[in-house]
This record gives sequence, structure tokens and C-alpha cells, in this order.
Amino acid sequence: MTTNCLFCKIIAGDIPSNKVYEDKDVFAFHDIHPKAPTHVLVIPKQHIATLTDCDDNALLGALMDRVRHIADDELKLAAGYRVIINVREGGGQEVFHLHAHILGGKKLPF
Ligand code: 5GP
Ligand code: ZN
Repeated sequence: MTTNCLFCKIIAGDIPSNKVYEDKDVFAFHDIHPKAPTHVLVIPKQHIATLTDCDDNALLGALMDRVRHIADDELKLAAGYRVIINVREGGGQEVFHLHAHILGGKKLPF
């Protein structure tokens, strides 16, 4: 746990969230400002600031595996969905704890 990290506080339950899924590796919850009818964030429990910093291929594999499990089986986004990882400021990253966005529930425009 990194004390000043918003998402570490959400994993710890110190900040409430609308949880979708949790296992030993990842935590998933609804985005507070949804940009699609379904907008869920999937984060590793281990604090990693950004994709560039992650050299753990097993963790990256587990993250992607859980993303598809959550989207397909938990959220049942049968028509499809988009997965986005914003990387550092130029990529639009605002929270520096690695996270994948799952967006779905409507036809996404681009
Ligand atoms: P980023 O821009 O870093 O890729 O995405 C961060 C996301 O976290 C944004 O979509 C933002 O709406 C979401 N977010 C920021 N603060 C909170 C919060 O306190 N709770 C939840 N559930 N989502 C948050
Ligand atoms: Zn963190």
C-alpha cells in the first residue's frame, strides 16, 4: 500500500467504491465519472504507478486475463467492449496506480 495513492486506499477500503470483482491479484470497481453506460476500472493490488514501470509479465498477463473475465463474465458485455490503459500525462493518466478501463454498454464512437 502506497499511503498517498487513491487507488491503494480504495483497495484497502479506506475510500468507498462500488466494487465489481476482487481476487488475490486485482480489484475492480465502477468509475466515479463514467464515460460509457458501463465504465469499470481494473487495478492490480500491487502498487505500480504506470504501465512503463511494470516489468512483471505474469502480473500483466493476470491483469489482462481478469479484464476479459470481468467484462465477459461479470459485466456480461456480450456486444463487446473497449479496454484502455492511459500511460503517463501525455496518455491522459490522472491516477498513478496502473489501471485498465473497461468501457461498454453502447456502440462506442471511435
Ligand atoms: P486515468 O485518467 O488516470 O486513466 O483514469 C482515472 C479514472 O479514475 C478516471 O476515469 C476517474 O473518473 C476515476 N476516478 C478518480 N477518482 C475516483 C474515485 O475516487 N473513485 C472512483 N471510483 N473513480 C475515480
Ligand atoms: Zn496505489
